[in-house]
Amino acid sequence: MQVIHTDVLVIGGGLAGLRAGLAARKRGQQVIVLSLVPPKRSHSAAAQGGMQASLGNTLKGAGDNEDVHFGDTVRGSDWGNDQTVARMFVHTAPKAVRELAAWGVPWNRVEAGERDVIIDSQRVTLSEPAAAQGLITARDFGGTKKWRTCFVSDGTGHAMLYAVSDRTIAENIPVHERMEAVSLIHDGERCYGAIVRNLIDGKLLAYVARATCIATGGFGRIYRSTTNAVINEGIGAAIALETGIVPLGNMEAVQFHPTAIFPAGILVTEGCRGDGGLLRDVDGHRFMPDYEPEKKELASRDVVSRRMEAHIRAGKGARNRFGEHLWLDITLLGEAHINGKLREVKEICQHFLGIDPAKQWIPVRPAQHYSMGGIRTDAHGQAYGLRGLFACGEAACWDLHGFNRLGGNSVAETVVAGMIVGEAIADFCASPEGEMHVSTALVRECYDREVAAFSKLAGARGGEDAGTLLRTMQETMTEYVGIVRTGEGLTTAVETLKSLLLRSHHIGLRHSAPGANPELVTAWRTQKMLKLALCVAYGALQRSESRGAHYREDYPRRDDATWLKRTLAYWRDPEQRIPTLEYEALDVRRMELPPGWRGYGTRDAIDHPDTARRQAEVDALRAQTGDRHALQQSLMPFRHLLPEHLRGDNARLAPADTAQPNEAKQ
Ligand SMILES: Cc1cc2nc3c(=O)[nH]c(=O)nc-3n(C[C@H](O)[C@H](O)[C@H](O)COP(=O)(O)OP(=O)(O)OC[C@H]3O[C@@H](n4cnc5c(N)ncnc54)[C@H](O)[C@@H]3O)c2cc1C
Repeated sequence: MQVIHTDVLVIGGGLAGLRAGLAARKRGQQVIVLSLVPPKRSHSAAAQGGMQASLGNTLKGAGDNEDVHFGDTVRGSDWGNDQTVARMFVHTAPKAVRELAAWGVPWNRVEAGERDVIIDSQRVTLSEPAAAQGLITARDFGGTKKWRTCFVSDGTGHAMLYAVSDRTIAENIPVHERMEAVSLIHDGERCYGAIVRNLIDGKLLAYVARATCIATGGFGRIYRSTTNAVINEGIGAAIALETGIVPLGNMEAVQFHPTAIFPAGILVTEGCRGDGGLLRDVDGHRFMPDYEPEKKELASRDVVSRRMEAHIRAGKGARNRFGEHLWLDITLLGEAHINGKLREVKEICQHFLGIDPAKQWIPVRPAQHYSMGGIRTDAHGQAYGLRGLFACGEAACWDLHGFNRLGGNSVAETVVAGMIVGEAIADFCASPEGEMHVSTALVRECYDREVAAFSKLAGARGGEDAGTLLRTMQETMTEYVGIVRTGEGLTTAVETLKSLLLRSHHIGLRHSAPGANPELVTAWRTQKMLKLALCVAYGALQRSESRGAHYREDYPRRDDATWLKRTLAYWRDPEQRIPTLEYEALDVRRMELPPGWRGYGTRDAIDHPDTARRQAEVDALRAQTGDRHALQQSLMPFRHLLPEHLRGDNARLAPADTAQPNEAKQ
């Protein structure tokens, strides 16, 4: 048994993992990062449209600040998120975007003077002030009151990941590529690292660490129709679940992005609509204003996706030989804009559709896009249940996003959470808890268990084909656990997935090669992905309300009285066929922004009994002080949870220090 020792083991070389590793390294910890692929190929590179941070530099961002970003994020989440975490996030995001600039991210910048933009299908001339010349600019995105999404053309994730990855190299942090964490080393109370499989030669190794951080991204590949890369299979979340002690939070909260090209499912960024693109139906009619007269195409993603599916169901979908879809029209933006700010979109359309989006409409339909759920952690990224285990990025349920993530808030989360969680990991390592006394017998036991499991699977000759099980799971999830859910459909999904899980114990392999054997890897991962799929489907079946991206046709109202709580899914016994669900209440009495109307559709939520009282308290405090920082501090203190160097106020060109009424629309 080969054993590798380190202080901090980061599982995942995307934006979140690398940034967390850098933070821990800066505090003197020895860090090793594991990744399935070279870090620069991680899925973060696919992020197109941008990163939210309330800099307020551009004219249409004027007046933006942490309060506005916070309000948008909480409303976007449909009040399902952790408001303290949201505060920590919005406060740190401006610092993160500026740090990235210093690390070489070539953010698009404000150009002083007049420029033409498209707003609500009209050409409008904006005049950017001279004082903002050269500062980081921002574009409009869905569900936001201000233009807040900082961007690098439509290759934002690519630019960010290259900068952070180069920084990792500069700091001499070793990245062990083509390595897959296959289980966690733990004794039921504390995590001591992971058992890892070399994807080239199939050898297993033990990585023993004082702290372990899972940053393995999302699990979109449990769906057939997804914008996610093939490596987004959620194995990091699955190995945490399989400890039996660590719960996954809000797994039923799955985001569907409105504009995936049809039928391939490849994303074209929300920046297309942010920059003025329109959604049209079979008749060429712009239909979103009919449903959402205020925000139109720039309503929150869950709302737009739902409206699109409803419009298709109403017979207004266009049709090609693959099925029904709608159109995204960016022709009105003009060739120069598309070539400059949406050039990746142009290439995607050319390569995968054979069209020029400056001249032709893009066929689109919503597809699975983002996992709001994941490994449940506290505000410092410490996973529930196992000391020494942390998680951040899309793999985690830090719970910034609740039941719907705003566009641009994910890459921002990866770096912000990386900064905060990385420091918490360093604190942990430096504390008495960080001392590690692990027995070699425990490491050996965990290692032997995986060696036995892999050799059993490699020799399995049962009648089930892993690829077939995988595809059936993906079809089932897309068909029954999608944008519009019903009790009947979810029951079908749960029963089908249960039977697939049972069948996965009888998989047969044709090739027993131990090394780079795709059949073996598929078989091994499918068993784990089925458990994740069951957490999603069963959680959705139990949640008899609609909140954010979780929309139940049979329970269309948000029900705060019963469901203002986070789902925790456990897999306590390996023989279990469905997860055990528990719930964690969200405390209205401590919310800075008590539940209210999001600003879409009708106001018909079922209120929580504490909402009115808390709202009255908040209103009274607002009446007492006009200083927004003092008001915030009295409503819901959060700065003490941040590392000291991140606590200070953010500088802006024109600070808006007066507290604003935090109503749904402006
Ligand atoms: C097409 C697309 C466009 C997007 N655009 C935007 C955008 O414009 N703005 C925005 O905010 N968000 C966007 N998002 C979302 C955002 O890109 C992701 O949520 C975010 O980048 C995830 O980062 P991460 O570091 O958590 O995970 P990832 O970048 O997915 O990295 C995961 C890492 O984990 C490694 N890994 C996985 N499993 C294992 C294992 N078992 N062992 C070892 N290593 C493992 C992988 O190799 C990889 O290095 C977009 C998403 C998609 C799909």
